[in-house]
Amino acid sequence: MSDIFAKNSALKALLDAHLDKLASEEGLSPEAITEAIAKGTMVLLANPSHKNVKPILVGQPSRIKVNANIGTSPLCSNHENEMEKLDVAVEAGADTVMDLSIAGDLDAIRVDMLARSSVPLGTVPMYAVGQKIIDAGREISSMSADELFEEVERQAVQGVDFMTLHCGLSYRGAQMGAEKTRAMGIVSRGGSMLARWMLENKKENPLIDHFDRLIEIARKWNVTLSLGDGLRPGAGVDAGDAAQMEEVINLGQLQRRALAEGVQCMIEGPGHVALNLVKTQIQGIKTLTNGAPLYVLGPLTVDATPGYDHISGAIGGALGVTAGVDFLCYLTPAEHLTLPDKEDVKAGVMASRIAAHAGEVALGTPRAKAREAAMNKARRALDWEGMKQAALDPAMVDKRRIQHHNEEVCAMCGKFCAVKMLKEAKIV
Ligand code: SF4
Repeated sequence: MSDIFAKNSALKALLDAHLDKLASEEGLSPEAITEAIAKGTMVLLANPSHKNVKPILVGQPSRIKVNANIGTSPLCSNHENEMEKLDVAVEAGADTVMDLSIAGDLDAIRVDMLARSSVPLGTVPMYAVGQKIIDAGREISSMSADELFEEVERQAVQGVDFMTLHCGLSYRGAQMGAEKTRAMGIVSRGGSMLARWMLENKKENPLIDHFDRLIEIARKWNVTLSLGDGLRPGAGVDAGDAAQMEEVINLGQLQRRALAEGVQCMIEGPGHVALNLVKTQIQGIKTLTNGAPLYVLGPLTVDATPGYDHISGAIGGALGVTAGVDFLCYLTPAEHLTLPDKEDVKAGVMASRIAAHAGEVALGTPRAKAREAAMNKARRALDWEGMKQAALDPAMVDKRRIQHHNEEVCAMCGKFCAVKMLKEAKIV
């Protein structure tokens, strides 16, 4: 077991302050949480510089967490809209939010999001570096390692709680990912920029060459490294190829190195994976990355679902949870098409929360079983308030019942209500 608490004083102070509350919320003993963090199978997301942050735990057996990605794009950039989307995501039950902004004043957006919300905030620092370089008319290949690490440090000081950094994307992996044998090449935005930098400069990834510099920053601010999957499959047929696995092996080695130096890591996962391969993918990645918390985007189980990718992703997410996934990054109906609006954000969060709950029901976790039991009891009693309390989205119960809210039964069957039929039966 690592001596992470001796090396990371920020983490120790956070855990000392919040352990009892976290244990109570998660239904776990303080000792189990402390041991899992020391082993690297659970992380505490919180940067002490993020004022009013509510720390959360990621890593089974803690509750499966859900992340919502928001942020501007060059074709759709409105600071206030993103703040409203942040509110919608949190109201819908997102445990964390990632600011993936790539247009406008990125510092102002990030600082406002940190001030506005107490859920842990994640970022991809490579985006801010890329924006500076591209807006200045420079080539990505001209980026210096200093520019990248200075941005990481700036965001850590601002209070960012976790950062996606594509540390496992090696020069060799970039070559493999760019090969024509891949249906979709490299689909990660940050990964594609770093891959181009490596291929054009014929140099190794600065995040690999200077990983110790990253560790220094992350440890000081308890920034959890979300070790990015720059070579994640962008199509089902690319899942499990050599490029993806080369990166996963590197991620496992880097996670071990970071943990030994007092830094928490999550591993980012696929991507697009056919349903029959989800379990083996997840189990393989968990093994290669030492059981570190696994944070997946979907995975999408089919590719031909634009407009419905939140459903395709939730199917993969639910199965993934049963195989060891700890953290679900949502997909919205806008995925692969446009920037999500507020309705998309709500739909995406709910789809991922359903996936998380479905996975937990299959795993038989006490909290998931209790929610299911409460719903069944309320349904049998035609107790609409009870159903609302047990529902993942209580507001939806009211919204759909509004027209007939005074009725004992619902408008699906009316006086043919099967539940009422038996409830009122004079059984002798
Ligand atoms: S009316 Fe039909 S759908 Fe509605 S509660 Fe009764 S049995 Fe269920």
